Formats: sequence, C-alpha cells, structure tokens
Amino acid sequence: MTPLQIVCAVIALGITAVGIALMVRAVRRILATFRLGQPENRGDHKGERTRTLLREFLGHTRMSRIRIVSAAHWVTMIAFGFLFFTLLTAFGQIFDPHFAIPLIGHFPVYEWITDILTISGIVGIVVLMAVRRKNHPGRVPTERRSRFFGSTFWQAYYVELTILGVMLCILTLRGLEYALQSKTEDVNAIAHYPLTFPVGEAFSGLSQTSLEQLIVVIATIKIVISFAWMITISLNTTMGVAWHRFLAFFNIFFKRHADGRTSLGALAPMQIDGKPVDFDNLDELMDDESEAEPKLGVGAVEQFTWKGLLDFSTCTECGRCQSQCPAWNTEKPLSPKLLMMTLRDHASAKAPYLQAAQAGSTVAVEEAQGSQTAQVAELSLVGQTGYDIGSPLTAYDPLGVSGAGAVVDEDVLWSCTTCGACVEQCPVDIEHVDHIVDMRRHQVLLESAFPTELGGLFKNLENKQNPWGMSARARMDWAKDLPFDVKVIGGAGSNAVESATDVEWLFWVGCAGAYEDRAKKTTRAVAELLHTAGVEFAVLGDGETCTGDPARRAGNEMLFQMLAQQNVETLGEVGATKIVVTCAHCFNTIKNEYPQLGGSYEVVHHTQLLNRLVREKKLTPVARPDEADTSGAASTAPSVTYHDPCYLGRHNGVYAPPRELIGALPGVEYREMERSGETSFCCGAGGARMWMEEKLGNRINLDRTAEAVATGADRIAIGCPFCRVMLTDGLTAQQSDGQAREDVEVVDVANMLLAAVKRG
Ligand code: SF4
Ligand code: SF4
Repeated sequence: MTPLQIVCAVIALGITAVGIALMVRAVRRILATFRLGQPENRGDHKGERTRTLLREFLGHTRMSRIRIVSAAHWVTMIAFGFLFFTLLTAFGQIFDPHFAIPLIGHFPVYEWITDILTISGIVGIVVLMAVRRKNHPGRVPTERRSRFFGSTFWQAYYVELTILGVMLCILTLRGLEYALQSKTEDVNAIAHYPLTFPVGEAFSGLSQTSLEQLIVVIATIKIVISFAWMITISLNTTMGVAWHRFLAFFNIFFKRHADGRTSLGALAPMQIDGKPVDFDNLDELMDDESEAEPKLGVGAVEQFTWKGLLDFSTCTECGRCQSQCPAWNTEKPLSPKLLMMTLRDHASAKAPYLQAAQAGSTVAVEEAQGSQTAQVAELSLVGQTGYDIGSPLTAYDPLGVSGAGAVVDEDVLWSCTTCGACVEQCPVDIEHVDHIVDMRRHQVLLESAFPTELGGLFKNLENKQNPWGMSARARMDWAKDLPFDVKVIGGAGSNAVESATDVEWLFWVGCAGAYEDRAKKTTRAVAELLHTAGVEFAVLGDGETCTGDPARRAGNEMLFQMLAQQNVETLGEVGATKIVVTCAHCFNTIKNEYPQLGGSYEVVHHTQLLNRLVREKKLTPVARPDEADTSGAASTAPSVTYHDPCYLGRHNGVYAPPRELIGALPGVEYREMERSGETSFCCGAGGARMWMEEKLGNRINLDRTAEAVATGADRIAIGCPFCRVMLTDGLTAQQSDGQAREDVEVVDVANMLLAAVKRG
C-alpha cells in the first residue's frame, strides 16, 4: 500500500468505526424512547401490512399528490438504497483501486443500474433542492404560506447536500474506473459504463498512477461524507428529515389499518394500557388504588402509545399537512407539522428523566433533576404559552424555554376541525387527528379545561340529547306539512311501524336535520324523493338522540359513549340493518364508530342512495325550461359547484355520488373548485368547532365560501347540514359586503334533485 492509501484507509476506517458506534447508540436511544409509550397492538395481519408497505414504498402512493416531488423523491430514494453497493466498492478501492465487487462488479446489468441510478439520483436530488428553495418561506408572499415554514432548514440542506455529494463522488468514481480500466484492456463502454463513460473520457489523459491515486482519494471522500452524515444524525436523533429514511418503513407497516386506508373515519378508541376504555368501568378505574388517577386521554407525552411516539419521530417536516390545514391557512396557531415536531422534540428531551425514573435509579433521577431534563419533565403538555399570534412558532415550546410552563398552547389544540387533511396528506402515515383528540380527552375528562362554549354543548347533549337543547317532541316537526305520512318506528299514530324490518331503509334524520331550519329542508327533500321513488322508509322520531360526534371530537368520550350506547341499543331493538343518513357526521359515526360499540349496519349517505335511484330510473330529473326564473328555487340555476364535506369525502371516500347526481341534472354546468376531493378545504364546523367561537385569525367558512363564489357558479351544493350552515353564513357575509351575487344560494344536492324531479 502506498502512503496515500494508508492515510486514506485510516481516515475511512476511523470515521466508519465512530459512525457505526454512534449509530448503534442512537438506535438504542430511539427505541428506548418508543418503549416509554403506552402499549398498543399494531402487529395484526402481517401479510397485509407488508403488502401495504411495499405498495406505499415502491409506488410512492402517499406522495403522488405532488407529482414532480414524488418522482424526484422516488429515484433519489431508490438510488440511495441501491448505491450502497458503491459504498462497499469504495472501501475496496482504497486498498486496491482496481477493486470491483466479486461476481456482480463487472456484470453489465449491475453496471447499467448503477449508472442509471447515479444520473437519475443526481437529477432527483437537484429537483428536490430546487423545490425546497422555491418554497422557502422568504420566497413566498407571506412566510406562513410556505409549507416549509418552521421546518429545520440546516438539517434539510445538510441531508440534500450529503446525497448530492455522494452521488457526485459515485459519478466521478465511475468515470475514473472506466479511464483506469481502459488503460489495461479494451472496455466495452456501452456494456459497462453506458452513461458515465463520457466522464471517464475527460480523465483519459491522466497516467495510470494518477488515476489510481484519484480513485483512492475520491473513494475516501465518499466514505467520509457518508459516515459524517451517520455521525450527524446519530448526534441528532430528532432529525426527522434524515431518520424518516429508516423510521418511515415501520410507521407505514404499523399504521392503523393494515389494508392501507388512512387513519380517518373512526377515531381510535380511548385506551388505557392498550385496552379500549369502557366507561361502565370508570368507577372501578377511579377506585383502583394502584392508579392515583386513571390515564384518560393524553396529558403527558409518555401517555401517547409507542406508535404515537414513532409518528412524531417519523415526521419529515415536509409541511404537506401544514399547507392543507384550514386552521393554519386562516392564521390560527395550529400547524399539524409544528405540533408533530414539538411532540417529537419534547419526547426526546423528557425521555432521559422518564427512563431514570422508570429504572428506579434515584441517583439518575437526581442527576436528571439537576439538569434541563427535569425542567422539561415538569412542563404541562397543553396550557397557556403566552404566545404571540403574529409569531405562531411561539405557541410551541418543547423544551420550556419561554418559562410559561406548557409545551403546546391550548389554542393549538382547540383550533383543529378534525378535517383530516393532515392525515390524508402525510406521506409517512402520521395519525394527527387521533393524537389531537387524545389530548383533548385529557383536557376535558381530567382537567375540565376546554373552551367555555363547549360547556353549553355538553350540557345540552347530557340533558336534551341534542346540541341545540331542543325538546325531543320537536324532532318530527320537519315532517308536519309533507303531502304524505312519514312512518315512525314505535310511533303512536296511523303512520307507526313496529320495527325497521317493516321497511327497507331506516332514515336517520340527525339533530340538525330535525331542528335546524336550513337542514330541515334537506330532510324534507330526501323524504319526498324516497317517497316519489317508492322506497319504503321509516324514521325513529323522538327515539333518536345525537350520535355523539361533537362530544367525541371535543374530547368528551364519556358523553359520546353514553349517547352512542343509547343509540346502538335503540337501533338493535328496532332491528335496523340499513340506514340512510343526510348528515356527514352522523354518517361517519354510525358507519365507522358504532361498530366499536357493537352496532354494525349498512350505512349510506343520501347522495349515494339518491344516485342509485336515479340510475335505476326510479327518479327522473327534468331540464329547466329555458325561460325559467333562476331566482329562489334551489335547482333553477345554470351552474353549480360542490363543496366536499370532510366527513363524507376525506373521512369516507365518498366523492363521486354527489357529483354524479349534479351531473344527472339536465342543463346544469358543473364547476369544480380548485381545492376539491381529497384536497377539499374544510367549512370550519368539524371537531365540534361548530359550537365554538372562531376568535383567532380569519373565518374558515369565509375562506371556503370565497373560493366557491370565485367559480362564478349560481349554486353552492353541499351534502351535510353543518356545511350548509357554515357556507350559508359565509355567503350571507359575502353578499352583504358586495363580494357575492345576491342570487347565489347554498343548497343540498337533494334539494336540487327534488326540484328537477318535480318538473316531470
Ligand atoms: S385535522 Fe384539519 S384542522 Fe386539524 S390539524 Fe389536521 S388539517 Fe388541521
Ligand atoms: S405531512 Fe407528515 S411528514 Fe410531512 S410535515 Fe406533516 S406530519 Fe410531517
């Protein structure tokens, strides 16, 4: 070996040894932090989970919404993995510049793949770097509009430059290998160096010795760059932009649904020690002397499950969730990305104290108490941070540096509409909504710390079983002047039926559908359409209570269970099997959450059933007469846009039926909003926000209404009573400001269909 080779070997082997040792220590620390989390079984259906992982990994299915980034990330990721072989080659080249991996090193297929991935990897990482620069907070109109606002830029730049550096080393080495080989033999460039031989041509003037020395040096640089990266990420275990390369595989494998569905629809049940909480046992739980206080929800970072802690660590800080979040987009302090980053950093900082306490090591605890760790351990997870609304990062304080004593501001927690845009967007399957609601559960059930308006909601739900606090006797008022009798299961009059088995569908009216004037119009329209189509249906009348959706999303799991159990019992007693619902929230709760309490039914949204009836020609919409007056009547409008309710669309994947229904209306032009389907923007009512005042930032419903109005459509169609209320309020405000035409209306798809059918 030459002196150069000896020096390079010492450097390469030395940094490798340090890198591997630190990496082993970092992995042990990360795993130890995850072990602090609560138990949760995510190990079922391993075969299905593996298929989901392979699909998401190889297909990049969760990234495909930003196509150019998806393609660039895919080639970079594949190159990063496959080109590990070139790292092995580099070690060999320090000792012997002519080294190639035995058997495959000069195999044309291997060399073709190496060349293709080298070039495409360079292109890929340059594109990713350009995208990050283009979206830098300093380059967009307001910082907040950048999805990278709040992301850790030095880490991202470092990772990207590392990849670029490694790729350039490989490119140079490939060229040098070609030039060196050409000195001693006749090389078939196309077979062995199809894309990199031109680089080699540039070195052809060098002597063999120079080429050998250059190979040794470049191989050493490549190894140093690679292991410097390993050392850096080992010393920064919260460096999500780097660690997601490893953690994302596990996060995807252990996602809530083995079949790959996003963690939307049903909320994860509240759990204690990995078991769902049943409030029938709450007294027992409270009396259990071994537990000073039952762990209801999440009041400290270690009360998240291990999967929650894995979620936080996997966040890549890409900001896709942030860019879609309605709270963030209307100047509120909540950003799902910043929340995940904060919980990650807090968990990491608190872990040593918890580990010392868990191990019962008094000395270690005392040592930790003297350090910053103790200060972090004493922080409240949620509370007042005294943040500045103009500077949203101040609402997050993972290390307690502000001295206010809370990690996440309570305004962050209560700004969430549970719309699910963050979960839908996240490329690594983080389950933000479950974590937010878990923290709300603790605030409501143990701290009694929630927005004051929710007190009225909870009281109405407890006393009157509906959010409006109305009398159960008024539940059938909507049907009073219909031209036919609506059958009531267990009713007293001539329209009474004994059980749901006497009819085809049980029509679940919902509290809004029964009490809210605008929603009542939808209820009546659906009833009339079903009657016209000859569909046998019946309602529960005063036997219905709130499904519990607002209570559950507000964190009041106990109230949710009370209401839900009562409804499941009622539905069981009347023998309900097929249920049609007009409210997207009732639809989601009955369909997805009642099975958690033993109630499983076939549940359809009214737009699905009506669409089916139109296809079967049981309902025939008729065209508007040309001379029709386009004011007033719901359907007499030439153009319509449609707002996807979050709990129908993102949470349940029902996008096509409402659009097909609108498409079936003759003479109606459909206009899509820019944010639609999976990327639809919330109306602001979900997550019990309907009953909370919107004191921070701009109003979400105004933002959405402005987008709908901008399409120029005459009607804003919806499929949920909550959206109807929010968008109608938004439209009224826009009309009074002169920003929307007076003849624009918000209507349910059912109202438009009814008007069209009545013309026949
Ligand atoms: S659920 Fe919606 S409102 Fe809540 S954090 Fe996610 S995107 Fe934001
Ligand atoms: S989309 Fe997922 S990975 Fe990206 S910033 Fe949000 S939580 Fe993190």
